[in-house]
Amino acid sequence: MYDILIMVIYMDIKEIRGVGEKSLELLAKLNLYTINDLILYYPYRYNIIKVIPLIEARDGETVTIKGIVDTESRVNYINKNFNRMTFRVRTDNYLINVVIFNRAFYKQHLKLGRIINLIGKYDREKNNFIASDIKFEIIRETKIEPVYHLVKGIKSSSISKLVLECFNMRIELEDFIPLYLKNKYKFIDKLEAAKNIHFPQSTINLKKARLREIYEEFFIFMFKMNYLKYKYDLNNVGLSRNVDRDKVDEFINELPFKLTEDQIKAVNDIYNDLIDKKRMNRLILGDVGSGKTCVAEIGMYINYLGGYQSSMMAPTEILARQHYEGMTKLFEKTKIKIALLVGSMKKSEKNKIYKELENGEIDILIGTHALISENVKFNNLGLVITDEQHRFGVNQRSNLQNKGIMCDVLYLSATPIPRTYALTLYGDMDTSIIKSKPNGRKEIITKVLKEKELKKILFHMLEEIKKGHQIYVVAPLIEDEDGESNLNDVVKLKEKFDVAFNNKIKVEILHGKMKNNDKDEVMERFKNGETKVLISTTVIEVGVDVKNSTMIVIFNAERFGLATLHQLRGRVGRNDLQSYCYLISNMDTPRLKVMEESNDGFYISEKDFELRGEGDLFGTRQSGDMVFKLADIRRDYKILVQCKEDTKKFIKDNIVNNFNDYPQFKKIIKELEFID
Ligand code: ADP
Ligand code: MG
Repeated sequence: MYDILIMVIYMDIKEIRGVGEKSLELLAKLNLYTINDLILYYPYRYNIIKVIPLIEARDGETVTIKGIVDTESRVNYINKNFNRMTFRVRTDNYLINVVIFNRAFYKQHLKLGRIINLIGKYDREKNNFIASDIKFEIIRETKIEPVYHLVKGIKSSSISKLVLECFNMRIELEDFIPLYLKNKYKFIDKLEAAKNIHFPQSTINLKKARLREIYEEFFIFMFKMNYLKYKYDLNNVGLSRNVDRDKVDEFINELPFKLTEDQIKAVNDIYNDLIDKKRMNRLILGDVGSGKTCVAEIGMYINYLGGYQSSMMAPTEILARQHYEGMTKLFEKTKIKIALLVGSMKKSEKNKIYKELENGEIDILIGTHALISENVKFNNLGLVITDEQHRFGVNQRSNLQNKGIMCDVLYLSATPIPRTYALTLYGDMDTSIIKSKPNGRKEIITKVLKEKELKKILFHMLEEIKKGHQIYVVAPLIEDEDGESNLNDVVKLKEKFDVAFNNKIKVEILHGKMKNNDKDEVMERFKNGETKVLISTTVIEVGVDVKNSTMIVIFNAERFGLATLHQLRGRVGRNDLQSYCYLISNMDTPRLKVMEESNDGFYISEKDFELRGEGDLFGTRQSGDMVFKLADIRRDYKILVQCKEDTKKFIKDNIVNNFNDYPQFKKIIKELEFID
């Protein structure tokens, strides 16, 4: 029976009552396809609505009150798009005038004598209540209202409705916490937890539900990490290579720069790992711009000399292309054949690469997660590198590695989290840490300014452009269609800058919604110096390397986490020119001061964690830097550590009988070990 109920949740969303073509399309935009997806689509925060008596309402404060409709409502159509409705409401023996705009459609519901809730502001002097909304289902004393991440066309309340429909069906959710642990920690049931998270009846219930889900989230994650590690250790006999060290040193000596001490150490670590029989499983942790890519490239050279193919996976096409171009140049004088594989390529191009790869003509394949495609078959893959590894899921990383037989593995990460946390999460692998920056690098001068001081920045921009340098501008939005958010957007900033520069300076925009070809062309014109100012969203955050850019201007800086700001700032200061970073914010955010203080990514990530404080359940949205849905590695660190222990024991106890008692984990393992 249980199994059948589980099957129900993997049914298509269209099986839910009230879901039509239109909703299907919108839900797909949120990546929701099955009933399970929908149920596990949790709110990212909650509104607390508390009904108060009118006398407690302070002037100008948004409050919720309860009252009885006392008169018919009158609607005044000011024009086609604008109407004003008035009526009277009796509340605690006061009779007040209610005014509400653009809600004429509520008129039919406002029957005399009906009890309603009004949300809005009370003007005591005029005895007017300016309502922003009316609620017809009566709110008890306090209501905890879920708020979901949305796309245009769908509201949080519609998500709630659909989820409620799901809960009305007979279903069972897949539970990943083994029973003995559930008992040990007295966790509530999965289904109950999900219900409480979508429709919390009290904060206590919500906390219990979240605790259970956080544990489960960490448990699955740590299970995957530890399982892979276990497998690694079980048969840790990998490839060994015969590589002439002199040849490696020759190559290093021909680089256009001298390696830093930490880079040399990391290269030595990799060299020793690669010539040794033991499989390499190494993480290179280094700040932005510390030269990790270069170390990885030398690793691929060593692997090539040893007679094997290498593959490098990057999180974005822009980055993959950049690596491809960089390596094409770096290996110009060698016989190494390099190829690029990204999703947007034509089928014929891809097919050619698949063939050359399989027969061993290609030595190094660089790409995005397109590399995981089942068509990608290597001849003798010896080394897999994941750039910005924290941006990939465990499955993706593992799937690429499984394309080789016992191949060596290298991860690169400018980790956005402090080292202790990183080591708990990714730990148990060997690490090489690059602390030193290449010689001659100057600190990037960073200033936090208010938007009204933009003129100063414009002058400075002109100065830099005159010197032949280039500039990045970053905004939090692509286009603010409703103009509601008060945030700067890429499209409007372009207009603003064109006016400011009198159209005399080439300004271009770049963002994730553009076609790949257009993106490439924009990037190309920026790289070759034709474009002076590039306005973009955070798509440039990872790895983009244009040495001639000396300034980055970030609008609404308060919207970004410190880790993201640090990554963005890392786009400049990539050679010995003095570089600048302006953080524009109209709010006094102490966090931003940290950026003025320091250029050290390790220090900044510590501060970021400190200042973010206990992740506030009802407050700010979690930073996008970590992939967990509810869990927060800082706030929930103790749970994480516990899960690490618990999963280790769980694996040890169950690996002998192949997790036969735990079909849900068999599934996880299958996904992890996916080989076509
Ligand atoms: P990361 O990947 O760690 O952010 P990169 O490997 O992209 O850093 O290096 C940043 C820039 O510094 C690149 O342009 C690279 O060519 C250059 N670089 C790397 N190592 C050195 C070095 N030892 N001396 C000078 N420049 C270097
Ligand atoms: Mg890099």
